[in-house]
Amino acid sequence: MIPSVPADVLDALKAALGEKGWSQDAERLAPKLVEWRERWRGSTPLLALPKTTDEAAKVVRICALAKVAITPQGGNTGLVGGQIPQGEILLSTERMNATRDLDTVDDVLVAEAGMTLAAVHDAALAAGRRFPLSLASEGSATVGGLISTNAGGTAVLRYGVMRDLVIGLEVVLPSGEVWNGLKRLRKDNTGYDLKQLLIGAEGTLGVVTAAALKLFPILASRAVAFVGIAGPAQAATLLATAKAETGGEVEAFELIGRLGLELATRHLPGLREPLETRPPWYVLIEIANARPGSAQAQMESLLAGALEGGLITDAAVAQNEVQARAFWALREGQSAAQKPEGPAWKHDVSTPLSRVAEFIETATAALEQQFPGVRIDAFGHLGDGNVHFDVLGPTGGDPAAHAVGRDAGARIVHELVVSLGGSISAEHGLGTMKTVEALAYKSPAEVAALRAIRAALDPGRIMNPRVLF
Ligand SMILES: Cc1cc2nc3c(=O)[nH]c(=O)nc-3n(C[C@H](O)[C@H](O)[C@H](O)COP(=O)(O)OP(=O)(O)OC[C@H]3O[C@@H](n4cnc5c(N)ncnc54)[C@H](O)[C@@H]3O)c2cc1C
Repeated sequence: MIPSVPADVLDALKAALGEKGWSQDAERLAPKLVEWRERWRGSTPLLALPKTTDEAAKVVRICALAKVAITPQGGNTGLVGGQIPQGEILLSTERMNATRDLDTVDDVLVAEAGMTLAAVHDAALAAGRRFPLSLASEGSATVGGLISTNAGGTAVLRYGVMRDLVIGLEVVLPSGEVWNGLKRLRKDNTGYDLKQLLIGAEGTLGVVTAAALKLFPILASRAVAFVGIAGPAQAATLLATAKAETGGEVEAFELIGRLGLELATRHLPGLREPLETRPPWYVLIEIANARPGSAQAQMESLLAGALEGGLITDAAVAQNEVQARAFWALREGQSAAQKPEGPAWKHDVSTPLSRVAEFIETATAALEQQFPGVRIDAFGHLGDGNVHFDVLGPTGGDPAAHAVGRDAGARIVHELVVSLGGSISAEHGLGTMKTVEALAYKSPAEVAALRAIRAALDPGRIMNPRVLF
């Protein structure tokens, strides 16, 4: 239970932030107090809207002294509830959205925490560079949120997650002190890496205010294909072939099941079946490189060989950008397409790539046996061994009845994942949703070390107190 915030603390925060820097207006607050799927709703006595790092530091300092809790929020696209306050001060980075610097010699973009991923893409592109992290929420998800959740997305198999893409950070620590770690070094081997500790900390170790992000060359040649395939095992083989044949130029490799494809074409306007046949599984493949015109030929050669060898059953290669976008829309619409079907039990899990097929097959059989009529919608970043294993209720069934099985279903899925050497949270983090469960899968030694780190940095536990250990 979060204690109510004393009036003198609220007054001090308002004075520190100035007129434009805070709000208590219900309408202004409303969209920030509900998660996009409406799974979490919250409340706050004050929305703090710092414009600068100095203002953010003042907020944290005032709260630290008064032992008042803070929930940081970026784009509010998180999927595990960590950004929705339950009585804490809500610190939004909405107004901290500038590009501080972009250097094409260092190949670095220094972005403020509230900059959206789409804005980072645009800024990089305008300078003839590219920031490769890409995900369906990029119009709203912010640099601070992406860092705090160590976000992944569709290009991880080639470029890695945020931990691989951030080379410097500026953070307001829980004491209110500012740590300026905005270095631009590819090599910096000087002991503990505070930056990596902050990445993935889900707002529990401070407020990220800016970051130095790695930039990459623009790729001149790109080919996108939608492929029909018998199952995830064949898809894993196809990925290995694609990587070998292209010398690692596979930009994305996304798995979609038949149900997901059907829901996308049924519920999302303008989306059509990409193939004449109706295979049980699909993969979306993107190949990209810097040699103009060559990706299309690579893709066609890969798919011709795979068809001839019986590894795939059907394929369509996008002939232009419009078609490429239409293929991607089928993938990116997967979560939205589930919504009209009622609530889904969502599992964001990973296993070694070699065990993904076994995971999907075993988990599907176990859930179908335990919960007759459920519909499995498995899709995701196969190249990273990351499956979004979502369980929909029976067609036309009662959503409330389906919701009852959520926890038991998660136990089945997570036990299996762990037994296969996997993780119960591949890319969305733990938030308030998975923290308790994650504890059960960590050793006492690890939990003690993690708690000691948190207590040392935030003895009053003011930063996102309901999140993590
Ligand atoms: C349609 C859709 C598709 C998605 N696809 C992917 C995907 O492919 N891969 C993936 O990894 N995620 C995905 N996500 C999840 C989500 O977009 C990411 O977790 C994203 O990184 C959250 O960014 P945000 O700015 O919205 O953060 P928020 O939701 O606002 O916050 C998320 C967490 O970070 C903390 N936080 C936010 N800003 C700061 C800050 N400045 N300092 C400290 N803590 C902070 C919050 O307290 C919270 O714990 C998807 C979400 C949606 C809705």
